Amino acid sequence: MRPPIHMLSRGRALCGDAGAKLISVCPTETSCPECRGLRKENDKMHGLIMKYFVLKPKGSDPYATASRMAMYAYSDSIMEENRDLGLELLRWAMDEERDAQDVQG
Ligand SMILES: [Zn+2]
Repeated sequence: MRPPIHMLSRGRALCGDAGAKLISVCPTETSCPECRGLRKENDKMHGLIMKYFVLKPKGSDPYATASRMAMYAYSDSIMEENRDLGLELLRWAMDEERDAQDVQG
């Protein structure tokens, strides 16, 4: 019987089998049932990992609030590298926050 083909993650078999010899980065090649199961869970958990993350600061719902908080943090973090961007983001987030408070009364 051929040894199972494990799924590779950060140089190790997903299932943690230290003796794993055959390792693949291709899910369709993976024949280890444990690795396959973990891979499915991983895909679900990491469904949001992509190149960009879009924020929508307008509004007063929890998503808009979270977006503005992210913009404040981004502004703070980028300010030294790119002051114009940092200030523009800060102003934008503050304007949206003011508008959201106006709507709420
Ligand atoms: Zn495995």
